[in-house]
Amino acid sequence: MTTGQIAALVGPATAEVQTYPLPEVAPGAVLLRVRRANVCGTDVHQWHYESMALRESGLGHEFVGEVVELGEGVTTDFAGEPVAVGDRVVAVYYLTCHRCPPCQRAEFNLCQNGLAEWIIRPDVPPYFRSAFATHYYVHPGQYFYKVPDEVDDASVAGANCGLAQMLFVMDEVGIGAGETLVVQGAGGLGLYAAAIAHERGARVIAIDGVPERLELARRFGATETISLAEYPEATDRAERVRELTGGIGADLVLEVTGVPASFVEAIDAVRVGGRIASVGNLNAAAEVTMTPGMVTRKSVHIHGVLRYHPWYLHRAVQFLARRRHLHPFEAFSDRSFPLAEVTDALKAGESRSVARVAIVP
Ligand SMILES: [Zn+2]
Ligand SMILES: [Zn+2]
Repeated sequence: MTTGQIAALVGPATAEVQTYPLPEVAPGAVLLRVRRANVCGTDVHQWHYESMALRESGLGHEFVGEVVELGEGVTTDFAGEPVAVGDRVVAVYYLTCHRCPPCQRAEFNLCQNGLAEWIIRPDVPPYFRSAFATHYYVHPGQYFYKVPDEVDDASVAGANCGLAQMLFVMDEVGIGAGETLVVQGAGGLGLYAAAIAHERGARVIAIDGVPERLELARRFGATETISLAEYPEATDRAERVRELTGGIGADLVLEVTGVPASFVEAIDAVRVGGRIASVGNLNAAAEVTMTPGMVTRKSVHIHGVLRYHPWYLHRAVQFLARRRHLHPFEAFSDRSFPLAEVTDALKAGESRSVARVAIVP
């Protein structure tokens, strides 16, 4: 094969599959063949032109690939594991420049140049900078990790970004044995969070509107669920959380819905002195009316968390290898589409009916 294909965003909600020659692989770089790529909520937002940075760029960032060619000098992954052509790997979807102010503070998740390559149009070599494609180019210095044989493609495709992101959030914000985590939104991120909190001995309450997702949440460690159908009002859902926690409220509320009103609901549902992790809301223009006085009076700790440190992707792969018998990780990608049907895949991802839609080029 001498050419590959990539889905390029050419206008609002307009993706076009384009063909380019396979690039030369520079020293330190790696060329992958994409095996499976998930449609993440962020991809849907990007498709709708809601990202200022990623417009005339390629789509897709949650994926697993297979090594086609190793650039000069590449003999191991970023955990020191030997790699060879044919090995399955996952790659961190952003870069860390080690030079910008956040990188100087070791806040690698906030690197100002993280998207420096992804924002470039796919018609510029090396073309393959995003995952809704037949190939993916791992740049020199871009973290990637080998996938153990026992972890299948469907399970590992969501390691980056979903699982790595949730492992980072749980470390940053903290969740301990015996604590109660309320997960707002039982999509991919919410299910991963449930699995992590379960491993750490916490109790998990999941909130969602889709019955299948709530059912899945139980298989990922949630012991209670709150259905939007049964509790359509936010104040009633917060009241239900208090009921389930002896009148106290949740120790940690994790927002992974992308719905601005969830933030206000989190302040209501969290206990006095508790923590809120704001992760799903990314839209810079979406607004909500809230009472700051409640944050003060309840002494709520609010943590906004973007991305993760690159090595969390390695932890994500190890987590899957360790916990794969306990939860149906492969059930995340329960519908797949060929690359040519990328628009249908994005529409299915947008409908939120399933945890994750996948593209199998
Ligand atoms: Zn940086
Ligand atoms: Zn993502």
